Amino acid sequence: MEPTYFIKPEKLTLNQKKLKYDKIYNEMSDLLKKYNVCDIHIEKGITQCIGKILMSYEDTTGKLCCHNCRHLTKHGCRVKALSCKLWICYSAIENLCNILPKEDLIYFFGMKKYLHQQLRIYHIPAGARDSKRENFKI
Ligand code: SF4
Ligand code: SF4
Repeated sequence: MEPTYFIKPEKLTLNQKKLKYDKIYNEMSDLLKKYNVCDIHIEKGITQCIGKILMSYEDTTGKLCCHNCRHLTKHGCRVKALSCKLWICYSAIENLCNILPKEDLIYFFGMKKYLHQQLRIYHIPAGARDSKRENFKI
């Protein structure tokens, strides 16, 4: 028998799931912007970020995690990929831990975890680097 304190989440219709997808995406986008998590900027004509992603043994700097993605254009990402909003690299996490006051850190990571859990609770699809259309197969 289930414990009485466990409340089953409501089942969402496909349209409700799509709305929830947008809500999580927008809330996480706002958080990333608010704390300038990735610090994406142009340097010497090249788009760069705070991350240090190992692309090859010779090249360890200056490329966003979007590198080589099929959705990347010269104007940036052209899709709504939820998985990319919810994932941040170790360099960005380390940077946040160094610069943010404790209250902001707790808020940021608490919200991130909460939004991530929403995916599981409501069965929202968010495949790695998949657009909203791909996630919902539309
Ligand atoms: S997650 Fe890391 S590698 Fe990706 S854009 Fe942000 S800082 Fe750069
Ligand atoms: S889908 Fe993700 S990895 Fe690809 S360009 Fe968009 S944000 Fe970057």
